[in-house]
Amino acid sequence: DVVRKIAAGEVIVRPANAVKELIENSLDAGATEITVTIKEGGMTLLQVKDNGTGIYKDDLPLVCERFATSKLRSIDDLSRMTTFGFRGEALASIAMVSSLNVTSKRRDAPCAYQIAYKNGAMTGRIRPSAGGDGTTITVDGLFEASESRRAALKNHAEESARVIDIVAKYAVHRPDVSFIVMRDERGCDLRSLGTGKREDVLGVLYGDELCKEALVLRLNDPTLHFEMEGIMASPYSIHSAEAKDSKRKRNKQFVLFINNRPVSCAVLKSSTEQTLASKGLATTYLMMALMIDPSRVDVNVHPTKDCVFFLQQDDVTERIQEYLDAVLEADIN
Ligand code: ADP
Ligand code: MG
Repeated sequence: DVVRKIAAGEVIVRPANAVKELIENSLDAGATEITVTIKEGGMTLLQVKDNGTGIYKDDLPLVCERFATSKLRSIDDLSRMTTFGFRGEALASIAMVSSLNVTSKRRDAPCAYQIAYKNGAMTGRIRPSAGGDGTTITVDGLFEASESRRAALKNHAEESARVIDIVAKYAVHRPDVSFIVMRDERGCDLRSLGTGKREDVLGVLYGDELCKEALVLRLNDPTLHFEMEGIMASPYSIHSAEAKDSKRKRNKQFVLFINNRPVSCAVLKSSTEQTLASKGLATTYLMMALMIDPSRVDVNVHPTKDCVFFLQQDDVTERIQEYLDAVLEADIN
């Protein structure tokens, strides 16, 4: 049991980690609406509600078992899914360190069913429950058994900010999905509408004036085995006084997804930032989503490390730099 708890602690160290995993599950289930509710930074309540496929009643007792996954169906899946991190461990890891409730309804089921866990063990049996199509995972008292962990996470404002930040990243990555964050019963902290347009999401997140001239990015390089799409907010379209305001500085961000996971990649980050800075665009918001042939991505990176390596990293980076350069030149002229 100790080993299991240590493993869980490695993966889920703060509320935002749990939110990331739950969102990923909702997206895997084909959800088009995802609502995240948090109280006290997610420490007293953290809930992710989706309208995805739902879970079969008979599968409910399995979802919080370690290595329980419904997502490995073929070799092809295996190479796709194991590109990053661990499989079938997320829910188990969260359940291990909290009180967790799963309520889920498949479209073809007569009603929803729910199951509850406390510190990794099922409490009671499966019960019918109210609830619409989809899945709601409710996590109460995250790390309730670990005083030291709770103490380390006592800055609830910071934990809230991290949760909102991770949801915002997914919202930009998946403009076709509507994301909502509700915090401390104060109403809505973030709401993307799922219009399918990244520029709409950016507008909602950071203000229309920053984003109305956003540049949509798209690059396909079969030779280097990658595709990239993304968006860059072009603050240089707003001049002088405004360009110096502090809101703008907060908007400087570099968001990277590789094969649908938010990751970091130091080489890519520093080189693109250099390209932007050379154009006088040091405060640009840039989001890029790369799809790279999974066989070319290093799968041996530890699940908790989000730093990614892939083949021909320097060539890919250079190609992206060239592309951004061309896009910016074209836009300025
Ligand atoms: P993995 O996502 O790697 O399969 P998880 O521990 O995250 O492992 O989830 C375990 C299983 O629970 C999933 O494979 C899936 O079958 C089911 N599941 C979890 N969350 C949802 C959800 N929101 N909607 C539908 N099924 C889910
Ligand atoms: Mg998962």
